Order: sequence, then structure tokens, then C-alpha cells
Amino acid sequence: MVILVSNDDGIQSEGIRCLEEALAGVGEVYTVAPDKEQSAVSHSLTLHRPLRIEEVAPHRFAVNGTPTDCINIAVKGFLPVRPDLVVSGINKGPNMGDDITYSGTVAAALEGALLGIPAIAVSLVTFTAPYHFQAAAEFSAMLATEIQTPRFPAGSLLNVNLPNLPRDQIKGYRFTRQGKRHYGENIDVRTDPRGRKYYWIGGDDLGFDPIEGSDCVAVHDGYISVTPLRADLTHQSTLEVLQDVRLPWRQETD
Ligand code: MN
Repeated sequence: MVILVSNDDGIQSEGIRCLEEALAGVGEVYTVAPDKEQSAVSHSLTLHRPLRIEEVAPHRFAVNGTPTDCINIAVKGFLPVRPDLVVSGINKGPNMGDDITYSGTVAAALEGALLGIPAIAVSLVTFTAPYHFQAAAEFSAMLATEIQTPRFPAGSLLNVNLPNLPRDQIKGYRFTRQGKRHYGENIDVRTDPRGRKYYWIGGDDLGFDPIEGSDCVAVHDGYISVTPLRADLTHQSTLEVLQDVRLPWRQETD
């Protein structure tokens, strides 16, 4: 099995190194990752400037772009072989609930899913050291072995979040759904030394909705959360509501 590894914390991050080591026991690992931190860049693709790739070590490549750029370039011809699996992480920080939409970590896995390759995103739920990457790396390797291509529906990916604990203190794992997190609403407005205002988007963690079976609840309870996500964003029940909507415009006729 050929495994493509990426992240959004940058190729120098300790999290991606731990992931590479664990996955080396499962398959042949290629790392194609951003040369610097790209957290919260979501699924952006660089189309208006040249991208450069530097081989920093055998099978390790740094790209001056986004996580999505990395997966896109790697799969569409840069790697000598098509990967069987994409694994992104291990991110320093949670990617649960609303985070998923902003996350570069999840976006790398999403790009894998869009290109028809099974994918896993892995994140540690903490922003402060010490980071317990080891349990996350081991769990990722286990999932990578378990999730073989024929069993993994096309267009889906697994979003994994772990409590930042040593392996023996994690209670277990739960298969979950996307939850709902709350952030502070305030934008920090300050004045620069030249008298101009500048703005800083905050992110005070105000907790989460206690949605049963959700990612946030699982991690809060001390479990690893594994949420299957889909690249198809269609809101099915809204599509049903729209069946009754009549706009003053030509309707499709058979
Ligand atoms: Mn990150």
C-alpha cells in the first residue's frame, strides 16, 4: 500500500513526523506537505502563482502552497505511483464541528476523497504542549490497515480527533457525527503604531452543543472520535423542501 501523508501545520511539524513513522509500518509512505503552516486555509487551491517543490529528504517533499495543492499535485502526476490512501495530520488543535469547514488538515483528506482515494484526517484536541502524538499515530496506523479501498465508499473520508492523553488514559473510540462548536463573537480591534485600525479574528472556545453521538461529546468524554465525512455537501432535506417551491421562471419540462 502506498500512503500519501500531508498536513496543514507544515512539513517541520512534530505531528507529521510521528504519523510518518507509524504509517511506515503499514505501507510505503510519501510525504508532500506545505513548507510552512497553513492552518485554517480550508480547501484553497493556488492558481495565480507558481508552486515549487523541494525534496527535503528521501520521500519527503515541501511545497510552497496549501494542503490541497500538495495532495492535488502529488496525485496528479508528481508521485511516481498513485497513492492508495491519504492521511493528513497529526494536527495540533481540534477539527470538530464547525472547525471542519475551516480546516486545512481536513481539506487535504477531502482532496484525496475528491480524487477517489480513501482518506483520513487526524487531529489532537489541544493547543498547548505537551502533545501526545504517539497514541494518535498508532491509532492512525490501525485505521489505515483496517480501511481497505474496496470497503471504503468513494467520496468519503474519516475525520479523527483524539483527546490529548497518553494511550492508556484514552477510554476507547466512538464512531460519531459532526457536532457544533461555539466560538467567541468578538473581533479584536486595535490600533497600529501609525494610527490605523487593524482587526484580529478571535476564537475563544465557548464550548459545544451536547449533541448525542457527536465528535465534541466523544472527545469531552475521553474517547477518540471517528467521524465519516462526505465530499458531497448536498443538504438532502432542503432538496425535498425545494420540490414545492415555484419560482416565476420557466420550469424544466419533460
Ligand atoms: Mn493546523
